[in-house]
Amino acid sequence: MKIGVLSIQGGFQKHLDILKKINISSVKVIYKEQLRNCSGLIIPGGESTTISKLLVKYNLSESIKEFASEKPVLGTCAGLILMSKNSNDKRVENLNLISIEVQRNGWGRQVESFSQTLKIENTEKNIEAVFIRAPKILRLGENVNVLARFENEPVFIKEGIHYAACFHPELTNDTTIHKIFTESIAA
Ligand code: GLN
Repeated sequence: MKIGVLSIQGGFQKHLDILKKINISSVKVIYKEQLRNCSGLIIPGGESTTISKLLVKYNLSESIKEFASEKPVLGTCAGLILMSKNSNDKRVENLNLISIEVQRNGWGRQVESFSQTLKIENTEKNIEAVFIRAPKILRLGENVNVLARFENEPVFIKEGIHYAACFHPELTNDTTIHKIFTESIAA
């Protein structure tokens, strides 16, 4: 299995490091040809408006949508914003991979960043989640499953084959989210 990590801006290196730690081979994705041999794609956190501009520049949006029609995508923070169907900001290129509506920076500004222990629903697993200018999910489509909540709000979700987290699972030593994603592909 090879996982692509969209590497045009933001925290892609930490995702590559975590994949290495769990012995999953990975490839940086900048050009659409690099998606070809991937079994899944991670869209990292960063700045969703900047990633949006670069998606247009590298002509990647359509290729990612096509890829996602068959293969799983995990988005974290800005990645979740890009995967949403609406983020109430016209500078964002919404890929519409998960039927959620989000508010950018809904969990506060940079200085209000925080770390939180979350329980993964229907499991005994707890994860450490880092929220940095994190998006808040305002509305969920009817087929979206909530896998973790914070203050009763959904912060880790799944729809069909795709996963998205409002927080940064790549900034801790915890590999749970990456394992959930890659095990769903291996299954
Ligand atoms: N607030 C950022 C955005 O809207 C996301 C922050 C992050 O990815 N840490 O793009």
